[in-house]
Amino acid sequence: MRGNTLDPFADRYAQRTHGMTASEIRALFAVVSRPEVVSLAGGMPAVTALPLDSVGAMIGELVSRLGAQALQYGSGQGDPLLREQILQVMALEGIHDVSADEVVVTVGSQQGLDLLARIFLDPGDVVLAESPSYVGALGTFQAAQAQVVHIPMDAAGLIPDALATALSELAARGRRAKFLYTVPNFHNPAGVTLSEERREQVLALAEAYDLLVIEDNPYGLLGFENEPLPALRARSAERVIYLGSFSKTFAPGLRVGWVCAPHAVRDKLVLASEAQVLCPPALSQLVVREYLSSQPWFEQVKVFREVYRERRDATLDALSALMPPDVRWTRPAGGFYVWVTLPEGLDAKAMQPRAVHARVAYVPGIGFYADGQGVRHLRLSYCFPDPDRIREGVRRLSGVIEKELELRATFLGARTRGGQSRGPGDSPGADLP
Ligand code: PMP
Repeated sequence: MRGNTLDPFADRYAQRTHGMTASEIRALFAVVSRPEVVSLAGGMPAVTALPLDSVGAMIGELVSRLGAQALQYGSGQGDPLLREQILQVMALEGIHDVSADEVVVTVGSQQGLDLLARIFLDPGDVVLAESPSYVGALGTFQAAQAQVVHIPMDAAGLIPDALATALSELAARGRRAKFLYTVPNFHNPAGVTLSEERREQVLALAEAYDLLVIEDNPYGLLGFENEPLPALRARSAERVIYLGSFSKTFAPGLRVGWVCAPHAVRDKLVLASEAQVLCPPALSQLVVREYLSSQPWFEQVKVFREVYRERRDATLDALSALMPPDVRWTRPAGGFYVWVTLPEGLDAKAMQPRAVHARVAYVPGIGFYADGQGVRHLRLSYCFPDPDRIREGVRRLSGVIEKELELRATFLGARTRGGQSRGPGDSPGADLP
């Protein structure tokens, strides 16, 4: 075998594997599993807040009663009864004009993203995505060799004027984006939510530019303050493909999500999914089906909201009390994430080894961009540690940032004496507060 000495298969891989790299989150996995490290890195749901005994009993009973179905292959599109129940879940976010026929059950919404990338993207195609954007989605777009154009956000989500500019620039070059990928609620990683007014504006632009919108909404029911805003899909059935998931409202280990798409797209999705997995796992689907019909699942969503609200509050209070001046962060009204902007000149990726040494982990911002932005940013997830651990983690992180600032001041002092003033890691153009 030729290849090279590091990887003897190197000359055989498909072109598309060249864009595949371990995400910033995967790379951290070994570190954050160490018990002495407070992990504010991974977005792991608080599954221990579930009534594990009754879920266990329910699963045991389900296999005894329906094992012949639960342990068998099933339909490529997903269990028909579960797809009916999914309609009721989507109705909670204002989606009514839809039939179970338009729903495809997937292995988590991550498989839905991968299927969409497979059916829509050719190498070189343009995808519009928020700036920053969900790392798992960027991974699928990169694997499809698409070009991601980031659209800035602020505290009210994606900025419609910036979207309009990107669309008209593309049109001027005779190009068209294949789709806009957006996480409108409690954004991962930015923590912000697209305002009601902007939802209208984004859809008006989609109409004007014949743009397809992929709405990824795993956190929509996990708001702390208000009822969920109507989904983009609730306002447009033709232009919006909607992704949902039971990972955050029930359990990610089951790997059950869905895509809701117009019939023509639905057909392609089912074919692509059958090629990938034959059918989504029957056992997981029946567990979700049983959970939705026999357990107080919406009461449990309220329990999750309370757990996450308390953790969000602990995070924001600790940040306010402990962070050095000039550090800024978003204030999520739901979901799992706070997006932090470091003072100018600091580099969250370079700082990471020092943070791990101080026994705290976060995800550096660069993982959430396809184009190398994000140096001054980091994502904190408050979903998993309890409030005391969160406070301790933020305390450790504040100490690390303070030390970085001291080091930088010393470095700059030395450089200025030597006639230069700009240090490493300066990143102009940070878009979010
Ligand atoms: N989209 C977003 C925005 C997410 O945050 C996640 C999980 N972190 C997913 C999709 C994938 O979730 P799952 O595959 O577990 O449904």
